[in-house]
Amino acid sequence: MDCNTVHDRLAAWLDGELAPADQRWLEQHLERCMGCSQQAADLAEQQELLEQLPPPSLPRLHEASFWAPMQAKLAPALDELQRRPQPKPPKPSFWRRELAITPVAITIYGALMAALLLWSVRLNVELDAADAQIQDLTQQVERSERLDAAPLPLPAEPEPAYANDSFRPVNYTPERGHF
Ligand SMILES: [Zn+2]
Repeated sequence: MDCNTVHDRLAAWLDGELAPADQRWLEQHLERCMGCSQQAADLAEQQELLEQLPPPSLPRLHEASFWAPMQAKLAPALDELQRRPQPKPPKPSFWRRELAITPVAITIYGALMAALLLWSVRLNVELDAADAQIQDLTQQVERSERLDAAPLPLPAEPEPAYANDSFRPVNYTPERGHF
C-alpha cells in the first residue's frame, strides 16, 4: 500500500470502519510516514471541529416567528389579488343550458325521432287503408243517390203520325184566349 491508498482510507480509519488487518497496516504506515501521519492529524482535527458545530436544524415551521416575515411580504400581494375584480364566467345561453348536446341527450333525441318515424309510417298505412274504405263507401253512396234521384227514364212516347200539316195539336195559351 502506498501513501495514496492511505489517503483514500484515512476517513474510514478515523471512523473505525476499516477491516482489522487494514487498520493494523495503516497504523504501521502512519508511524513510519510523516506526511500521512500529518494528514491524518489534520483530518482528525477537521472532524472534531465538525462535530462541535451545532447540528443542522430544520426551519422551525411551527413557530410564528418563522412565518411572520413571510406573511408580511405575502399579505399585500394576497390583498391585491382579492381586491381585483373576478371575471365572471360567461353564462351559457338558454339553448345551451336547456338542450345541451350530451351523449344522453343525443340518445334520447335519436330514440324519439325513431319512434316518431315508426309511428308516422304506421299511421300512414292506417290512413291509406281508411282512405280506401272511405272512397269505397262514397262510391256506394253516390251510386245509390244517383239511382234515387234519377229513376229509370220512361220510354219516349212515339210522336203520332199526322197525315199532313193541316192539323196540329196546339198548346193552349191563355194569353191568346182562343185557338
Ligand atoms: Zn505515507
